[in-house]
Amino acid sequence: KANERESLYLVSDFANTYFQKTLHKTNQGKAIGLSYFKERGFTQETIEKFDLGYSLDEWQAFSDEALKKGYKMEFLEKTGLTIVKGDKHFDRFKGRVMFPIKSMSGRVLGFGGRILTNDKKAAKYLNSPESDIYHKSKVLYGIYNAKQAIAKEDNCFLVEGYTDVIQFYQTGIHNVVSSSGTALTPEQIRLINRLTNNITVLFDGDAAGIRASLRGIDLILEQGMNVKVCSFPEGEDPDSFARENTLEELTTYLENHATDFIRYKASILVNEAKDDPVKRAETIKDIVNSISKIPDRIKQEIYLRECSKIMDISETVLFSTLQQLTQKEI
Ligand code: ATP
Ligand code: MN
Ligand code: MN
Ligand code: MN
Repeated sequence: KANERESLYLVSDFANTYFQKTLHKTNQGKAIGLSYFKERGFTQETIEKFDLGYSLDEWQAFSDEALKKGYKMEFLEKTGLTIVKGDKHFDRFKGRVMFPIKSMSGRVLGFGGRILTNDKKAAKYLNSPESDIYHKSKVLYGIYNAKQAIAKEDNCFLVEGYTDVIQFYQTGIHNVVSSSGTALTPEQIRLINRLTNNITVLFDGDAAGIRASLRGIDLILEQGMNVKVCSFPEGEDPDSFARENTLEELTTYLENHATDFIRYKASILVNEAKDDPVKRAETIKDIVNSISKIPDRIKQEIYLRECSKIMDISETVLFSTLQQLTQKEI
């Protein structure tokens, strides 16, 4: 089994090198892939830092090259790089720009590939399937490049996508990772928790982004970590915002807009509730429910007080609500 995993690592590493070579050295790679990255504002240095690549728009160019080099079809298929159908085989990432996903120690585990056409029927991003080396719930895109900065800054920015990570990094904020397309998991949070106790969730300024951030908050609190949230103007995501602003402007924005989770929840939920007392009550319960996830009693107390002030409701009532919630779980 250990040998088999090693074979999967070797194939993935070969693919990573191959996709980079294709991007930088072939006419198609340069004309289509490299110019796409340049148009998105990525510099040569950034493209190299993240090992970005390109997979030719041909049915089996990559697979055949790998086979020629002696890599076995069995492992090409198990990593998902090659799709086998009967006696035919195809490159999974045909015609896509490639984002290798690395472990904390820098080994390539899998890939994300972005489509370059406007084909609405095809998925915008395609990821490697689960394999013996790639468990998507246990990896964070960007962690290898970010780990030192996360420890040094004692904070980790969590964004939604590959390009958000890369654009932040290029702008000068290096402590940034992404769960890339999967809902945030406890394993991913624990990975961050090895480096810091603080997470700032940055999500896209759209409905999907807000929903995702609300789900993430409780999970982070459950792990005993501190969570702040920062939203972006509607229609913006961390990538587009970082691209339009300097490092100073971005840093200032983050400092001014990162709020603790209670204020954040209160602001969006109260906004939805307006003057409706029933909805207001639901909002308060929702916040107390989040507070109930915090393992540390002292922190709970501090947050209850904060909630009491913001929502203008007595601490006593909040406390008994909290107790009810905690008892239900037992
Ligand atoms: P871009 O800026 O390249 O258009 P994005 O990163 O802003 O992409 P979003 O639509 O905001 O893309 O989605 C966030 C993340 O969710 C993506 O980076 C990707 O990891 C994942 N994702 C998006 N669309 C898909 C899809 N169709 N299939 C799988 N994963 C996806
Ligand atoms: Mn989005
Ligand atoms: Mn986005
Ligand atoms: Mn985007």
